[in-house]
This record gives sequence, C-alpha cells and structure tokens, in this order.
Amino acid sequence: MRDENGRTIDYLRISVTDRCNLRCRYCMPEEGVALMNHEDILTYQEILRIAEAGAGLGIRRVKVTGGEPLVRKGVIQLIRKLTAIDGIQDVTMTTNGILLGEMAQELAASGLSSVNISLDTLDPVRFHRITRRDCFADVMKGIEAAGKSGLMVKLNCAVMEELCREDVLAFAEYSVKNGIPVRFIEMMPIGQGRKYHAMDNEELLAVLSEEYSDVRISTEPRGNGPAVYYTFASGAGCIGLISAVHHKFCAGCNRVRLTSDGFLKLCLDSPAGVDLRTPLRSGISDAALKDLMEQWIRKKPESHHFLSSAGGEEEGLLFDDTAEQCLNMNQIGG
Ligand code: SAM
Ligand code: SF4
Repeated sequence: MRDENGRTIDYLRISVTDRCNLRCRYCMPEEGVALMNHEDILTYQEILRIAEAGAGLGIRRVKVTGGEPLVRKGVIQLIRKLTAIDGIQDVTMTTNGILLGEMAQELAASGLSSVNISLDTLDPVRFHRITRRDCFADVMKGIEAAGKSGLMVKLNCAVMEELCREDVLAFAEYSVKNGIPVRFIEMMPIGQGRKYHAMDNEELLAVLSEEYSDVRISTEPRGNGPAVYYTFASGAGCIGLISAVHHKFCAGCNRVRLTSDGFLKLCLDSPAGVDLRTPLRSGISDAALKDLMEQWIRKKPESHHFLSSAGGEEEGLLFDDTAEQCLNMNQIGG
C-alpha cells in the first residue's frame, strides 16, 4: 500500500520480545530494565493475525527482531507460520547471534532466508565492554553455523565513539576472508543511544581507503534496505554504511514496526502509531483490523527529526496517547 506521501510500504519489522541475553550499552541499561509483563506481550497468534492483515495491505517482507528474538520460546514455529502467509515473500531476522549455534539449522529449515547478526567489534575484550557479557565466542560460533546452514549472513556494527581504526580494518579483513558484508550503522539518538555519538561515514571510508586502494561504491542490488555498499580488495570485501541520522532516507522509507506489546509504530523517531493489542483482545474482526492498520499506515510521518529537538512539521500529528512512547531500542526492535 501507499502512504499519504506516496511511499510504498511493504516491509514490517516485528519485535517478538523486549528480553535480551546481552545488555549493549547503547541499547539497554545495565540494571533496572523495566521489562514488559508477559501478559502484555503479543501472543504468536496475535502477531500472525497482524502479519496476515499486513500481507493483505501489501507487506511482502518481514523482519523478526527484539530484544533478542531467539530467546523467545517457539520463535521457529512463528517463522514457519510467517513464511506460509500468502503474500509474504521473505522472512529474515536480526539477532545478536548467541543462540544461532544451536538454532541456525532449524531456522533455515523453517524458511528464514537470512540473518543480520549484530556484532560491534571483533575484539573479545571490547565485546565484553560494549555488551556487558562474555559471549563473544558464542557469537562467532553462531555466525559460522548460520553460514553452514545456508542462511545469508550480514554483520551489523553499531558505530560508537570507541570504534577505532583497528576495528574498522579488522571488519574489512573479516569481510574479505569470509565473504560476509559488514554494515556500519550510525548510532541513533534513541533511548540509551542518546549518550553516544557516531564516527561519520567519511572517516570510515577514509580509514578503508588508506588500507585498500580500490574502494568502489557498489551498484549491485543487495536487498531493499537503505545501506550504501562499497567493495574493495578486488571485490572480495564488502562494507555497507547506514546513516539514518545524517543521510536521511525517509523519502524512500518502506517500513513500519510492531513492538512486542502490539504498538504499530510508524517511524523510529515519532510517537505516531496505534495500539493493536487492545482491539485484538476486544474481538476485532480481520477486516476491521486491516482497515485500522491501513488508516494508520497511510499517516506515516514524512521524515524523522533526529537532528532537531523540535517536532517541526510533525507537530499536530495524531497518535494513540494510551501507549508508552519513551522506548529503548530493545523495545522497538531497531
Ligand atoms: N538483539 C538483536 C540484535 O542485537 O541484533 C535484535 C534487536 S537490536 C535492538 C537491533 C539492532 O538495533 C542492533 O543491530 C543494534 O545494534 C541496533 N541498535 C540498538 N540501539 C541502537 C541505536 N541507538 N542506534 C542505532 N542502532 C541501534
Ligand atoms: Fe540486546 Fe540487541 Fe539491544 Fe544488544 S542491541 S542489548 S543484543 S536487543
């Protein structure tokens, strides 16, 4: 379907839990994490009803995320059912990779096509510092298992102040050796992420170009996301840059998000959206659910305002003020 700004919306990110087995500094606080009550989290049946209604509106690709999606029991069955929905062409996942070692094969068999694995450094000590947990070896095992099971793999590195030249070059080398694209994601001022500032794309590219003389922008299509890709080392290495804050890609934004407690969130940087859990639990029909979603998706905000404190043209935008709006990324799903 199209929104009021003429954008085609065909991508739904579904957060299945706000729980996580890591505590990445930019995403969740160390302690005092206010977790949702279990009964507030959508059941898989409720998620599937929303996904089916979305498919009826033109959603073609679904990303399962969290929190850490692999910590929720039964997630593989959910994926199997998502892939079976008429109209859904691709189901993928964003994960920290810790549990992939034991789950990758079953995930691939359930119809999942690819995993984006979040890994912010290849240095185990820094990994511990960033995530507050000692799980680096598990993630590396997970990446290997995902590749072996036939899942397409990309690494996502959230760029923090601490990201240094050595990290960038280690990822570049890793990409060359393993044929895995590594994407650097600019930190967004959301939740805990407000405390961190990003190394910018120009600096990242400069580091890469100092080491590799043949860094070239890649025109090869690599999914429908907003990353700009560069190849190097005779095309063996591939780095992607995702810069949501400084290089706005709102004009081409194709996505909406479902939080684990059932809020349909229209833009990362806006409270705009609607609570779907209450109508679901009050017996809304499939047709009325689809209408409700259509009505709200149509109103997707035109752009984010990460760089300005004021609401700008978004002032006056409608939103469902019964829902919690001040979220950390583990609650939104990234
Ligand atoms: N636990 C899974 C994972 O880490 O991939 C899925 C959920 S996590 C919230 C999804 C993505 O959001 C991760 O790649 C993480 O690095 C990213 N993220 C979290 N907080 C962020 C922020 N403030 N700015 C940019 N990316 C962020
Ligand atoms: Fe967990 Fe992912 Fe957030 Fe890290 S980024 S704390 S792995 S939800």
